[in-house]
Amino acid sequence: NNFKAGFNFDNSYIKLPKEFYSYINLHPIKSPKLVILNDELSKSLGLNTEFLKSEEGIYIMSGNIKTPNGVYIAQAYAGHQFGSFTMLGDGRALLIGEQITPFGNRFDIQLKGSGVTPYSRNGDGRAVLGPMLREYIISEAMYGLKIPTTRSLSVISTGEKVYRETIKQGAILTRVASSHIRFGTFEYAAYMLDNNKLKDLADYTIQRHFPFIENHENKYIAFLKEVIKLQASLVAKWQSVGFIHGVLNTDNMSICGETIDYGPCAFMDTYNPDTVFSSIDTSGRYSYKNQIKMVNWNLYRLAEALLPLIDLDEDKAIDIATNSLSKFIELATSNLISEMCSKIGIFNPQASDVNLLNELLDLMYKYKEDYTNTFIALTFKEFPNTKMFKSNEFTDWNNKWQNRLNLQNQSQDEIFDLMKNTNPAVIPRNHRVEESLLAAENGDFSVMNNLLKALSNPYEHSDFQKEYAKLPPISQCVYKTYCGT
Ligand code: AMP
Ligand code: MG
Ligand code: MG
Repeated sequence: NNFKAGFNFDNSYIKLPKEFYSYINLHPIKSPKLVILNDELSKSLGLNTEFLKSEEGIYIMSGNIKTPNGVYIAQAYAGHQFGSFTMLGDGRALLIGEQITPFGNRFDIQLKGSGVTPYSRNGDGRAVLGPMLREYIISEAMYGLKIPTTRSLSVISTGEKVYRETIKQGAILTRVASSHIRFGTFEYAAYMLDNNKLKDLADYTIQRHFPFIENHENKYIAFLKEVIKLQASLVAKWQSVGFIHGVLNTDNMSICGETIDYGPCAFMDTYNPDTVFSSIDTSGRYSYKNQIKMVNWNLYRLAEALLPLIDLDEDKAIDIATNSLSKFIELATSNLISEMCSKIGIFNPQASDVNLLNELLDLMYKYKEDYTNTFIALTFKEFPNTKMFKSNEFTDWNNKWQNRLNLQNQSQDEIFDLMKNTNPAVIPRNHRVEESLLAAENGDFSVMNNLLKALSNPYEHSDFQKEYAKLPPISQCVYKTYCGT
C-alpha cells in the first residue's frame, strides 16, 4: 500500500484537457526481476527502498499491478524529428504518478518499456535490457556531473523476448523527471489542438516550473525567455564535458531544462568537433559542434508554437519572440566560455581567453588527444608522453596559459581546486559502458556497479576514479549508437 511504499502522489497533469494524455491498461510481464535499484534516489523521493525491493514493489515498477492513487497515463506530444514535424506521444512509457518528496518537490515517476499505448504507432511498446541499463548509467553519470537530467530509479528485466535486429532481453526502466513536458508538447497543442488548450498547457507549465513569472505582464514571453536561459545553460554544460545527446529532436527537449532521452547519446573520447555516434544521424545534424545550433533551432520551433499566446497580432508576436531568441546563441556561447575557462583555471573570463581556449582545442584536434584527459593532465600538471604534450606548440601554449593565470589574484591552490572541481576524472566512456552492459547481460552486475560508483563522484580524483580514465583500445574507438531500442 501507499503508506509502506512511500508513494505520495499528487497528479496534476490530468487536470489538463483530455487530449493531452490517455489512460492506459497495464500490460503485465511474465517474470519481472529487479536488476538495479537506485537506493539514494529512492530515499530522496521519500520512497521505501525495502518496499521497492519486495515482490509488490517490483510488480509496481514492472507495470504488473497499479499502485493506489497512481494515474497510469501516456502523454501526447508531437515534435520535429530530424527537421520534420510528426505526431508522437509516449509510445512505450507510462506515467505512474507525480511524487511529492519530503522536501515538497514534485517528480514524475514513469515506466519506460511498459507496453503499447495509443501513441505506439508500429512499435511494440517494449524496451531492451542493454539500452535501459545504458540510460541508467549515463543519466546517473550526468547527475554526478551536476548536469540537469532525468534520473533512473530502477531497471527490471521482464523475462520476455524483444524482437529487434536480433532477439533481445526485455526490460523496464523507471525514470524520474521534474516533468515530461517537452517542446513537442507545445507543438502538439499548437498544431493539433487549439489556442485555448495551448494556453492551458502554458499556464500549467508556468505554474509547475516557473511560478515566479506568473504575474509578469506578458508571462508567455517571460516563459520563453526562461526556457531559453535553461537551455543555454544546459547545452554549455554538455559541451564542457564532451556529451553528445545524439537525437536533439524537439520531442526530446525538456521544457524544464533537463537532459532527457538517453538513446544514441555518448561521451566523446578523442577531441573532434565533428563527432557523431548515432547510426541514423548520417548527415551529422546532431554532432558535437552542432548542438548549440540545434538547440537554437528547436527553440525557434517552441517559439513558433507559442506565438498565438505571445501576442494576438502575429507580426508583433514574431517581433517579440525573435528579439528573445536572438540572444540564445550569445548566451549559450558565453556560458560555454565560462565553463571552459573554469576548466583551465580562469576565474574571470575575458574576451581574449577565447583564443587561448581555441588554441588548446586546435592542438587537441591536431594531435587527436583525449578531451577529458587533456584537462586532467592540465589540472595535475602531469603531462603524458604524447605527441601533443611533447610539441613546441604545446610548450608555447602552456607558457601563454601560465602568464594568463598569473594575471589573476587567485593562488595556485585556488586554481588547482577550481580545475579539480570542473574537470571530471571519470566520464562514462563508451568502452566501459559496453563492458558493463555485456557483463550485465550475462548476469554479472559487479562491473556496472563499480562503474556507477566511480561515476557518482566524478570530481573525486582518487585511484579508483583514475582507473576509469584509461582510454579504449584502438579497436573500440569507432563507436556507433542506436536509438529506438
Ligand atoms: P525517441 O527517438 O526515443 O525520441 O522516440 C520517438 C518516438 O518513438 C516516441 O514517441 C517513442 O515513444 C516512440 N517509440 C520508441 N520506441 C518505441 C517502441 N518500441 N514502441 C513504441 N513506441 C516507441
Ligand atoms: Mg524521445
Ligand atoms: Mg528514446
